[in-house]
Amino acid sequence: MEGSRPNEFEVEIGGAISAPEAFGASFDLAPTADELELGEGLEGDPALAFRRTLGMFATGVTVLTTRVREQVHGMTANAFMSVSLQPPLVLVSIDRRARMGALLHQGTRFGVSVLEARQTGLSDRFAGRIADDPPEATFEIVHETPLVEGALAHLVARVVRSYWGGDHSLFLGQVEFARYGEGRPLLFHGGRYERLVSDPQVFSLLPRELLDPILALGEEREYADGDAVMQIGEAGCDLLLVVEGSVSVERPGFQATLGPGELVGEIEVLDPGGGRIADIHAVGLVRAIAVSREKLLSALEADPRAALALIEVLAARFRETA
Ligand code: FAD
Repeated sequence: MEGSRPNEFEVEIGGAISAPEAFGASFDLAPTADELELGEGLEGDPALAFRRTLGMFATGVTVLTTRVREQVHGMTANAFMSVSLQPPLVLVSIDRRARMGALLHQGTRFGVSVLEARQTGLSDRFAGRIADDPPEATFEIVHETPLVEGALAHLVARVVRSYWGGDHSLFLGQVEFARYGEGRPLLFHGGRYERLVSDPQVFSLLPRELLDPILALGEEREYADGDAVMQIGEAGCDLLLVVEGSVSVERPGFQATLGPGELVGEIEVLDPGGGRIADIHAVGLVRAIAVSREKLLSALEADPRAALALIEVLAARFRETA
């Protein structure tokens, strides 16, 4: 397949030309996944490669729920998407073999519970994955629909349309109820659970008795109000302990103010080739202790307990994201 520049279409947004409501042909002549052409470097089962390619699209994880008389049925699904704001519509894609698909009909209400980062056990439970001690789910009933307690966000929708989607069925739901809370979502990518780590910490998780001797090797620095303390991309060859004043930390999608006793630049100091990951500015007069990478390494060599504690922190971080 040759690369080519896309054609530009003149489309009058909001004018006479608009997207059609629906169109489509039969799938009778559609090729099967086994006939897919694989990109360069890929070989083996095309259907598996197709599945893995789709797995590169990172999603959240939801539990879909519905109630039939007094019985609640739940199912884990990541094929959930928002469709329209006016009217509020969402779409879910359900395997035709799944029990859930057989329970949803025109007008049936279903709940969507967007799982929180720690709810991997519930995701496994509602996916029918075997676990030694699966957590019990508790449900809250809203609009006569069960919603998983402790989830990050909840929606209740009523099935208004359904479409045939090959081995899945697509259900379009008109949303009647929406709510969200604070927290981080559980993510699914490449066939495994992931989570966002937006507040990287390593050295600040060390116990004080191991951290203090390292900080004692640092040198004092002062910054005036508004001074750049660190800038995204520049080499990160030291970490800073804020002693007085505060600093504003900004990176895409994240802003925080850190004060006395907090460390900044603690990830990059372990990876000086990677560059700073945030812009940091002084808020008011700031005094800080800077510890260079060389001093850090010599302190870790001098006290293997500190080096081991650091490895434990890194291992816990790894476990969190796995
Ligand atoms: P079952 O397999 O009968 O039920 C699912 C599990 O939930 C069972 O273990 C059951 O005991 C438990 N359960 C049901 N109700 C309750 C209750 N009231 N209390 C306690 N436990 C209960 N499949 C799709 O079709 N679409 C997707 O988008 C999709 N995304 C997925 C994303 C992830 C991350 C994972 C892990 C799986 C996904 N699946 C998806 C697979 C799907 O979750 C499973 O195939 C599931 O088993 C299908 O559920 P079912 O409706 O057939 O019911």
